[in-house]
Amino acid sequence: MNSATTLTGTALVTGATAGIGRAVALGLAARGAEVVAHGRDLDRGARLVEEITAHGGRARFVAADLTDAKEVARLAAEAGEVEILVNNAGIYEFTSTPDTDTDSFDRQFAVNTRAPFLLVGALAPAMAARGHGSIINITSSAATSPAPVGGAYGASKAGIEALTRSWATEFGTQGVRINGVSPGPVRTAGTTAMLGENVEMLGQANVRGRVGEPEEIAEIVLFLAGPASSYINGTVISATGGERSSLPG
Ligand code: NAP
Repeated sequence: MNSATTLTGTALVTGATAGIGRAVALGLAARGAEVVAHGRDLDRGARLVEEITAHGGRARFVAADLTDAKEVARLAAEAGEVEILVNNAGIYEFTSTPDTDTDSFDRQFAVNTRAPFLLVGALAPAMAARGHGSIINITSSAATSPAPVGGAYGASKAGIEALTRSWATEFGTQGVRINGVSPGPVRTAGTTAMLGENVEMLGQANVRGRVGEPEEIAEIVLFLAGPASSYINGTVISATGGERSSLPG
């Protein structure tokens, strides 16, 4: 059994219109899951569904703004019965603490922490009642590696890492597994919009000496989604290219 195992049931992927989420949605659909692809951009959502169906997969798009708790509830209701939930949608605003205003702080916590919290609250009990399900939270190395900017973002991701461990104990005894993937810098629509050509520079800080590609993160999500990871629960897998030694040489 490996990560290429056929998947059954429905998978909800938030933030599937770009970057890591898009790669995850394509990968899940290629392995047989029926994908509920979420985002806000209707055109990119429609293109993703077309691409999945053109390859023989099954998908539909649901738009929702995750800063609005009512929209999150509607997304959960429209997704219906879900076997796999990938909490991927996220925003990162790399400002200093004095430059992070209340709106920025609230926006990052609403999308990165509160929306996954509400989706798990809405969808995990039915998974537990059925006795199986897999939830994967995309966190960030910013949750554990301090930096002089982006403190609010790192805190919002540290929150979801704590929730990952809590949920594994809350729902784990009923057959639901909850894990996380913590990427380092990855080349996506979001990081490219922020840094342009400089995205590649972020990769210089890790042992691989490059940024990651969305498909490299998606592979880990596929492993955690399927039966190949059946004995893993409450873990966050780090995918950063490897930390450099602080010793000289
Ligand atoms: P991205 O390219 O910026 O795409 C973000 C996705 O999230 C899009 O599908 C976007 O949908 C959706 N989204 C953003 N704000 C939303 C909102 N208010 N309501 C609903 N959907 C919203 O993202 P990415 O770089 O692939 O990052 C994906 C995840 O990985 C995030 O949780 C991020 O924190 C994490 N991560 C990324 C990196 C990296 O270097 N890229 C590193 C560590 C962790 P629309 O465009 O349709 O609005």
